[in-house]
Amino acid sequence: MRHFAIIGSGPAGFYTAEALAKAFGEQARIDIIDKLPVPYGLIRFGVAPDHQSIKAVAKRYDKVADDPQVRFVGNVAVGEAVSIDELRGLYDAVILATGAPHDRALGIPGEELPGVVGSSAFVGWYNGHPDFADLDPPLDGANAVVIGNGNVALDVARILSKTRAEFAGSDIVGHALDALEGSGVRTITFLGRRGPHQIAMTPKELGELGHLVAAAPAVDPGDFPSIEEDEALDPGLRKSVSHLRAYAAAPPAGDKPKAVAFDFFAKPLAIEGEGRAERVLVERTRLDGGRAVGTGETYAVPADLVVSCIGYSSPHIAGVPYDDDGGKYRNDRGRIDDGLYCVGWARRGPSGTIGTNRPDGYEVAEQVAGAMAPGSDGSKVGGEALDALLGARGVKSTSFADWRRIEEAETAAARPDSPREKFVRHHHWLEILGH
Ligand code: NAP
Repeated sequence: MRHFAIIGSGPAGFYTAEALAKAFGEQARIDIIDKLPVPYGLIRFGVAPDHQSIKAVAKRYDKVADDPQVRFVGNVAVGEAVSIDELRGLYDAVILATGAPHDRALGIPGEELPGVVGSSAFVGWYNGHPDFADLDPPLDGANAVVIGNGNVALDVARILSKTRAEFAGSDIVGHALDALEGSGVRTITFLGRRGPHQIAMTPKELGELGHLVAAAPAVDPGDFPSIEEDEALDPGLRKSVSHLRAYAAAPPAGDKPKAVAFDFFAKPLAIEGEGRAERVLVERTRLDGGRAVGTGETYAVPADLVVSCIGYSSPHIAGVPYDDDGGKYRNDRGRIDDGLYCVGWARRGPSGTIGTNRPDGYEVAEQVAGAMAPGSDGSKVGGEALDALLGARGVKSTSFADWRRIEEAETAAARPDSPREKFVRHHHWLEILGH
């Protein structure tokens, strides 16, 4: 028998579990450990609530969870309830699938002012992550600034722009829906330090901005290079740029009360305000070999709320070597050390779609299998010993069966136009389970 511990129950964790179950067959016992009592990580807490078709991938993970060789061990914080070294002593291989839940810092003055939030906090707030249930972002002012030109920036701007009715069918949490309905935000400005040809926004997601009921995108036609230069772009980016060109050419949407404005060649220098964010000081940039360089020209963009969407990093874990520049664990194709691996964003850094994690999980499972003699048994005891250790420490873990009870309670509590009402407090989850 071979025992595996996967830390993190998001897409990377589930694809790796699926791959290990296939590679080792009946020989595998796989524990997917998560610090939260509920599974699915990024699917539940990261993917936008109005992108239900993307969230549907969790059905595939449900199938993995139905495999009797696979257990969910929720409500267990690695590094607190149990250490990595202890897990390495109990399992033949430990695979870090922690994702990258921490916001990268902007590294500019004023970043700590009230009204400045990172995307993991803001996204966690509207998606029901317990750590951010009390975020209460300021939505009273007219101006929001979203820093970054990636898909997370798009998610944030779209969520800030939608009417209550446009959230029908989504699983946005009630507290965010109510706050957004009462929001005073009228202008949402993307600050991109480079230009339209350097955006990291994908076409489908960028196209959604053109179909908002109460908000219209605004792009300055003067920001584009010549149209001939679009030909050299790869097809996805070319399509995204064609959306931007269409937005720039559209007549002003006088009937829509909100604007989503693209401010390109705009590098944030500082966030300023009396006791809270009021504006972002920006330097105009120009491109030099694809890089943004400052021109010395500065101006201020009004900002009552600033959401920085500039990327993420994985958590530091005692005893695990870390790549500070990449915000991920130091690894060679997923291998960190004997019996210790990483997968997904913890391996590659925060880029790629959910689907990218599938081949990634399979590749790491292959690495794990390659390090073990085929058909051989390990000497580790695995989950049984973990349960004993957690029991002795008074830690009550949650199982897939527990999750299904929580899911039923969330479905029963749903608003008429939503698949579920997500519970966002630890104690609420544990009450349902009678823990
Ligand atoms: P991303 O795609 O890497 O975009 C980060 C953005 O932040 C870039 O525009 C980058 O500009 C900018 N940036 C970085 N540092 C900056 C700084 N110091 N000042 C100003 N701007 C800065 O990251 P993401 O948006 O967090 O997305 C992460 C991954 O998840 C991506 O692969 C994304 O496609 C994926 N995702 C997908 C979906 C979806 O498919 N619906 C939704 C959300 C996320 P530069 O290019 O100039 O560095």
